[in-house]
Amino acid sequence: SEERSLNFIEEIVEQDISAGKHGGRVHTRFPPEPNGYLHIGHAKSICLNFGLAKKYGGKTNLRFDDTNPVTEDTEYVESIKEDVRWLGFEWENELYASDYFDKLYEFAVTLIKKGLAYVDDSTAEEIAAQKGTPTEPGTPNEYRSRSVEENLRLFEEMKDGKYPDGAKVLRAKANLASPNMHMRDPLMYRIKHAQHHRTGDKWCIYPMYDFAHGQSDAIEQITHSICTLEFIPHRELYEWFINKLEIFPSRQYEFARLNLNYTVMSKRKLMQLVKEGHVEDWDDPRMPTISGLRRRGYTPASLREFCDRIGVAKRENMIDVSLLEFCIREDLNKTAWRRMAVLDPVKLIITNYPEGQTETLHGENNPEVEGGEGGRDIPFSRELWIEREDFMEEPPKKFFRLGVGLSVRLKHAYIIKGESVVKDADGNITEIHCTYIPESKSGNDTSGINVKGTIHWVSAQHAKTAEVRLYDRLFRVEDPSNEEGDFKEYINPDSLKVIETAYIEPDLATAIPGKGYQFIRKGYFTLDKHSSTDKLVFNRTVTLKDGWVK
Ligand code: ATP
Ligand code: MG
Ligand code: MG
Repeated sequence: SEERSLNFIEEIVEQDISAGKHGGRVHTRFPPEPNGYLHIGHAKSICLNFGLAKKYGGKTNLRFDDTNPVTEDTEYVESIKEDVRWLGFEWENELYASDYFDKLYEFAVTLIKKGLAYVDDSTAEEIAAQKGTPTEPGTPNEYRSRSVEENLRLFEEMKDGKYPDGAKVLRAKANLASPNMHMRDPLMYRIKHAQHHRTGDKWCIYPMYDFAHGQSDAIEQITHSICTLEFIPHRELYEWFINKLEIFPSRQYEFARLNLNYTVMSKRKLMQLVKEGHVEDWDDPRMPTISGLRRRGYTPASLREFCDRIGVAKRENMIDVSLLEFCIREDLNKTAWRRMAVLDPVKLIITNYPEGQTETLHGENNPEVEGGEGGRDIPFSRELWIEREDFMEEPPKKFFRLGVGLSVRLKHAYIIKGESVVKDADGNITEIHCTYIPESKSGNDTSGINVKGTIHWVSAQHAKTAEVRLYDRLFRVEDPSNEEGDFKEYINPDSLKVIETAYIEPDLATAIPGKGYQFIRKGYFTLDKHSSTDKLVFNRTVTLKDGWVK
């Protein structure tokens, strides 16, 4: 892609490098919580973190932020690794916040010993009430003045499983009068008797996000810890823990999360769509997940290009999904192989073409590439399938397709002229009869006839069949999360259209999984993961042009 100016995070990194901070080292991390599949918003964070390291000769860790045992699972860990690799990035270290549970426990003990943390027996409601309001300071309770010895004993007993869930918490003794509510003695640990996907039942106390994230960054000596804007109010606490613990001074920087219109982008909401059967699974081609986009036919290059084009913002904004579609169109235009497929077929009979005769025509794979990247044979015969919409019995002016009395070129083949139609009892056209001009063969046309239109076709006797799935936006409003009521009320009922029997040229029977194909005039398609030699299934990645009407 073209040269662009530095984004504000690159500016910070370049300043740090020239100031010799951390010896000019750049070390980032991508920290997903393994509680769902990654979405395109995560792709933005991945491209940013891995992109910075790549640009400045640094490293990026993949760190699973797995401090909440109830929601996390190894299924998600595996899918996250697959998605990051597929996007084209390789991490320096595969790490888990849960690997630091011992170390984090030690950090907590250190703070207790410094008089900077205490065990609190209050309920969640009491703690919330005692925190005050943004205009009123919080009030200390009786537990805040517990002795260091008592806190050490109680915290150890919490760890040893002496108390039920919710009976006690460990809190930082920070500043109950701080204008920043996050500084008002935030929770560090809570009791949760739950199985963890990696540590099993070793622990029954788990650190809160704020006590785990910065410390994990410091343990890994992360230089630039990049997160989204909602963490701005957490930054003071991030630095407070690091300063009090006197550990590696990682720094947090915030950028605006990616919001895309006509979809939702929170794992919790995406999970609901899956669990309640609104979509097939996390990788349903309508989902904004990386696995869904992959199955739909998006390429890693197109997603990286999209992330690059939207840039790194300091303010929340909404990105139009048509930009994403533009990026995949641009990529597939360069790489997809051209084929012919008829999605809404009607029979075309060339009355002056000999019955029983077949000839083999040739089409290049990719006209965008010098030499065409090879090509394929296309059988031609007397009876073809064409698109119903490419014919009109009584064509209006400027209809440059086939009509009675109107001529058109069959792609890679001959010029034909519409002659007559056959209809069923209801008046539907069942056959179109035409004549062809033998001297008009593509590449060797001596007919001297010019026609305006070219249509695609498939030889009826040679055609294979396929199921073709056409997708539209999953939601009918731009920002379903911001509408009244439940976001699921705004699901687009027509987001999937299945064509049970499309006719495709025979070469497509050996289509390559993961490869993009342009079905001429119909869009870009790719094999679905459920496609088999017995039943071919294609997903439409995107149309050739932006056909959305608001
Ligand atoms: P969600 O709300 O969708 O579950 P999350 O932030 O809870 O997202 P994490 O697994 O914690 O999900 O995210 C891993 C990283 O990806 C974090 O650094 C987070 O800031 C970043 N991230 C998540 N969503 C977006 C987004 N829409 N745009 C940019 N970055 C994002
Ligand atoms: Mg998170
Ligand atoms: Mg989340």
